[in-house]
Amino acid sequence: MTSLLGTSFIGSTRSSGTNSCGQGINPATGETLAPEYFSATPEEVEQAVRLAADAFPAYSAIPGKQRGAFLRAIAERIEAAGDEIATRGPKETGLPEARLRGETGRTCGQLRMFASLVEEGSWVDARIERAQPDRQPLPKPDIRSMSVPLGPVAVFCASNFPLAFSVAGGDTASALAAGCPVVAIAHHSHPGLAEIVAAAVIMAADETGMPDGVFSLLYGGGRAVGQSVVKHPAIQAVGFTGSRAGGTALMATAAARPQPIPVYAEMSSINPVVILPGAFAKGEETLAEAFFGSLTMGVGQFCTNPGLVFLTEGSGDAFLAKLKSLVEAGAPGTMLNAGICKAYQESSSSIAAVSGVETLARSSADCGHGQGAPAVFSVSAKDFLANEELQGEMFGPATLVVRGSIDDITAAVSALEGQLTATLHATEDELAANEALVSALRNRCGRLLFGGFPTGVEVCSSMVHGGPYPSTSDGRSTSVGTMAIHRFTRPAAWQGFPDAALPAELRNGNPLGIKRHEA
Ligand code: NAP
Repeated sequence: MTSLLGTSFIGSTRSSGTNSCGQGINPATGETLAPEYFSATPEEVEQAVRLAADAFPAYSAIPGKQRGAFLRAIAERIEAAGDEIATRGPKETGLPEARLRGETGRTCGQLRMFASLVEEGSWVDARIERAQPDRQPLPKPDIRSMSVPLGPVAVFCASNFPLAFSVAGGDTASALAAGCPVVAIAHHSHPGLAEIVAAAVIMAADETGMPDGVFSLLYGGGRAVGQSVVKHPAIQAVGFTGSRAGGTALMATAAARPQPIPVYAEMSSINPVVILPGAFAKGEETLAEAFFGSLTMGVGQFCTNPGLVFLTEGSGDAFLAKLKSLVEAGAPGTMLNAGICKAYQESSSSIAAVSGVETLARSSADCGHGQGAPAVFSVSAKDFLANEELQGEMFGPATLVVRGSIDDITAAVSALEGQLTATLHATEDELAANEALVSALRNRCGRLLFGGFPTGVEVCSSMVHGGPYPSTSDGRSTSVGTMAIHRFTRPAAWQGFPDAALPAELRNGNPLGIKRHEA
């Protein structure tokens, strides 16, 4: 059982900061939760980053099998804290126990997925071009390359995945797998969960002999403590999930450093769903029920929530009628924190005032403390195109239906900001007949779905959970799946090196037995 102290982890040492940065708050009741939390001091922030920098040479040189053992030990320690997580989590986040237990499983699964990746070792993408001393007109040198870790990484914990995108979530797992120490910044929404998980990481580091400083967790908020971590010259990359304002602020900070560094920020996405008439043959009401399930899952607080639906004029009346009735009867749910609830109430109220927008339905139930309720709005494709603000994220269970001709819909999709996902419901004939629309959807998103709904992100090697700006700050990568490891690496080449001085991955005898590109 972790006894909650309310202090940061400066490597394996607990902070002595005395400035309060608040307590956990039960979003369902407004009740504060013990203990009080204290900000890391500026000296402790410096110490945490220095420890990470000092740990980097040793940690990055640790063989993949040992790094894998560390990741597996973290998963075991988190699983051992499963009951504590399931007790504290619902109080801090308003999420049900079953969701938190499921997310614990996903988090541990992610850690083990990266463990398998680094234990096997081929992920480094080793490339070997041997010397050709007799080549004319010039000899060819021996050049070998592979991915190497960047250095210490700052990870901002997300509010909406208090485990899977938080202290030991995807960003931490992929950075640690790559060989990068992590300095995590706790989210004020779930400080107790953060402390339980950080204690698990520190215990695992100790048990598996990792250098002190391989992991730290700092309290005190993103704007104060997080900004100073990102400004620190030893930090080499940033992982973030949250608001567009927060993500772009961190991008600006990282770009203004004497040495700019990459920021992988997942920010705002409204995940368009296009339904062409043929898709309704399977049953308009059934499709509306499935859509409503995706819209309201987790009170709509998923980055892949379907916040925009395109329908062609004259189709989908029964779909809309069913959706309206589901929304009217829809129950409100407790949102993650007061700030997110307020932002949802504001965004789902202000959209109704935009020219051409009609409120199709709102839940008829009264919202209790901290709750958000489903809502559906509609607008013509022409009005959607004329009002850029309609592309804003309503982070919660609200969606906007846009109706127009295929050409109007194609134009509206082409004008969309970058998205994590886009979904097309159509027959295969419609798919083939609407190349311009499909190509516009493909260009605007990271993951294109044919049928189904975007919520529920599979964690696997082929997953892309990323997309053009502003869904992420850098659409060339993913935050879910094994490809995420490459966000925290860079390619490096060795030219003319003696075999014994090369990393094991690049030596002639291939002692690790990994897959390599050899010429
Ligand atoms: P947030 O306000 O962006 O906060 C996320 C983290 O970033 C917190 O630790 C916060 O620290 C920090 N932060 C915020 N602004 C910063 C800045 N200027 N400089 C440095 N750090 C900063 O996100 P949130 O609290 O999770 O939710 C707020 C809104 O973000 C939601 O209503 C929703 O619209 C959006 N959101 C989107 C997604 C998505 O995946 N698309 C996920 C979550 C949230 P502080 O403690 O200082 O605030």
